[in-house]
Amino acid sequence: MVSFGCGAGVQAIAERFPNKPVYAGLNTNFLGILEEQAVWTEKCMACGDCMLAEFGGICPITRCAKHMLNGPCGGSTTDRCEVAEDRPCAWQLIYKRLSAIGQLDRLEKIQPPKNWSLAWYGGARKLVRPEHRV
Ligand code: SF4
Ligand code: SF4
Repeated sequence: MVSFGCGAGVQAIAERFPNKPVYAGLNTNFLGILEEQAVWTEKCMACGDCMLAEFGGICPITRCAKHMLNGPCGGSTTDRCEVAEDRPCAWQLIYKRLSAIGQLDRLEKIQPPKNWSLAWYGGARKLVRPEHRV
């Protein structure tokens, strides 16, 4: 079988059909959105401790090359990231967005170190929500 789902979909099929070979028809890259025809960009790294509300809905973990929670780094030129000129500086976007929604005061708060134990460093994660069981 060939699955054109994401990597998780391929593995779900492999678990469902243990005696059948299953092949990935796609190369899963990231959680992203379609920007324009044939162009996708990564928007979320599934860190397990979402902080989007603090940053106006723009994820610095994913979109800042240095994953800075207290940015910017100071290396941007105009609105471009110093690491890759084809990308906007995430912190420029965060500033503009918070300004537009009247929440610039959020930037006055120093973000504490993030709880990375909820992220992927300890291996595959598991989500258990007993309240969803019927
Ligand atoms: S803070 Fe974490 S969960 Fe939220 S968008 Fe960024 S990577 Fe994804
Ligand atoms: S230029 Fe902006 S996006 Fe790039 S690493 Fe620095 S703060 Fe992050």
